[in-house]
Amino acid sequence: MTKAKYIIIGSGVSGLITANKLLQAGESDFLILESRDRTGGRVYTDNGIDLGATWFQKHHVYLTQLLKELNIPSYNQYSKGKSVLVYNSMAPAHYFETDHSAPSAQRIMGGSYSLINALAEKVKDKILLNTKVLELTDKEDNIEIATTNGIFVATKVVTTIPPKLATAIKYVPELPENIQKVMQKTHTWMSNAIKVGITFKTPFWRNKNLSGTVIGQIGPVIELYDHSNAQNTEYSLMGFVNEGLRGISPEKRKSRILTYLETYLGEEIKNYTTYLEKDWSKDRSTSCEHLNSVYMSPEYGNALFNMNYFNNKLLFSGTETATHYGGYLEGAVYSGLHTAKKLISLVDQQKIKLE
Ligand SMILES: Cc1cc2nc3c(=O)[nH]c(=O)nc-3n(C[C@H](O)[C@H](O)[C@H](O)COP(=O)(O)OP(=O)(O)OC[C@H]3O[C@@H](n4cnc5c(N)ncnc54)[C@H](O)[C@@H]3O)c2cc1C
Repeated sequence: MTKAKYIIIGSGVSGLITANKLLQAGESDFLILESRDRTGGRVYTDNGIDLGATWFQKHHVYLTQLLKELNIPSYNQYSKGKSVLVYNSMAPAHYFETDHSAPSAQRIMGGSYSLINALAEKVKDKILLNTKVLELTDKEDNIEIATTNGIFVATKVVTTIPPKLATAIKYVPELPENIQKVMQKTHTWMSNAIKVGITFKTPFWRNKNLSGTVIGQIGPVIELYDHSNAQNTEYSLMGFVNEGLRGISPEKRKSRILTYLETYLGEEIKNYTTYLEKDWSKDRSTSCEHLNSVYMSPEYGNALFNMNYFNNKLLFSGTETATHYGGYLEGAVYSGLHTAKKLISLVDQQKIKLE
C-alpha cells in the first residue's frame, strides 16, 4: 500500500497543471496515477503530427499565459494560398482564400506535446504510468484507491478522468445519483475523432499556391490542414477522417483517403514518407466502449463537478468540468489551476479547524 497526501488521477494537461501548482505551493507529497504508458492524455504528438489537440486561440488566456511561463512559443496555422471547399460530389471544387486580417489559429512550437514535456519534467518522479484506477473507497480519514498496479491511499484525491469514462470506476459508497447522471451525459470532447497525418519531403501543395486546407463533409477527410513545423523544415498534412470510414479496414480507409486527396491536391500525395492515423474512439483511456451516437449538450462545467464528494476528499477536474472553455485545452488548463486552488484551500481550512 502506497500513501500520499494528494493523489491526482490522470496525467493529461489538467492533472499535470494541478501537480505543478501543488509543487509551486510547497506541497511535494503527491502522486499522479496514469493508466496509459505515456503522459499527456488527449495531447499526443507522434512523428511531428499532433494526433490529439493542435490549435488554440489568443483569447485562450490561461493557456497563452502558461505557454509564456514555460517559454514555449506559438505560431500561426499556415493558410497561404487557395483552400478547397468540397460541398457537393457532382459540382467542381470551390476554392477560397483565408481572411488574413482575422486572427489566426495558433499552433504550439515543436508540437502540442512540448507542453506536456515541459509540465511533466517538473513532476516526473511523481508519475506512475500503467496504473489504471479501478475503485475508490471512502475510508473516513482518507480514500483507498485500487489500481492495476496496487493499492494507494490519499487524504485528497483529484480525478481528471473524462467524466463519462469515470463512470466505469467503482465508488464505495456510490456517488449521489445526480452527479452519476451528469457524468454519464457529459460527452468526452473529441473522443469520437479519427485523425490522419501524412508527412512529405516537400510541401508540394504550397508550390502550387494551395494552402493544404481541404474542407468538406462528403469526402473521406472532412478537414485537412498544412501541418508543417514552424521552422519549415518538415512538411506534413493533418486532418480529421470522416467517421463513416471507422468500420472499414485500415488499408481501404487509407486508399480512399489518398485517392480523395489526390483529386484536390495532386498525385504527389502518393509520394508520402509516413502515414499515421489515430481513432480516439478505440482508445480506452479516453473513450467508452460503445459509440452509438454523439449527443452534445452544454453540460461542460456543470455545477455538480465543482462540489466535493466523499466528505470533501474527492474532487472532479479535467476539461469537461471547466466553466471556462470546457472541452478545449484552455478548459483543461483552467480546471487544473482551479482544482489546485481548491485543494490548497481545503487543506488550509482543515488546518484552521485543527488549530
Ligand atoms: C483528436 C483531438 C483533437 C483535439 N483538438 C483540440 C484542439 O485543436 N484544441 C483544443 O483546445 N483542444 C483540442 N482537443 C481537446 C484537448 O485535447 C483536451 O481538452 C485536453 O487535452 C484535455 O485534458 P484533460 O487533462 O482534461 O483530459 P485528458 O487529456 O483526457 O486526461 C485524462 C487522463 O486520465 C487518464 N486516465 C483515464 N482513465 C484512467 C484511469 N482509470 N486511471 C488512471 N488514469 C486514467 C488518461 O490516460 C489521461 O492521461 C482535442 C482532443 C482530441 C482527442
